Amino acid sequence: MSLQVETTERTDVVDVTGEVAAAIPDGVDRGVCTVFVPHTTAGVVVNENESRLLSDLDGWLDALAPRGEGYAHDELDDNAAAHLRAMLLGESVSVPVVDGSLDLGTWQSILFVECDGPRTRSLDVAVASR
Ligand code: ZN
Repeated sequence: MSLQVETTERTDVVDVTGEVAAAIPDGVDRGVCTVFVPHTTAGVVVNENESRLLSDLDGWLDALAPRGEGYAHDELDDNAAAHLRAMLLGESVSVPVVDGSLDLGTWQSILFVECDGPRTRSLDVAVASR
């Protein structure tokens, strides 16, 4: 199933935990939920949705992949830093499903990380039952 995610900033974090949980089909008791970002300038992580931490993430991405560093890809569409940030973040996460629910840790959320917004994005959710 594909979810839609609206981002509102160039770099933006959207907590999609609730939407992903709602996408688990009825009848799945145990399994694995894979969340996949079908884009090259956005990523997904499992971490804490805490505003100061998300601000730190913004600064960390700026430090690791600053914009306007003369990247070769910028000659094409001026978003090389966004691609590099997405590579650091990764394009998928897998979360166990137990008793039909996401078995996340107390402080864990599924966070979609936009690196080249604002845009309307897709997010694929696949649940394998076992
Ligand atoms: Zn590009």
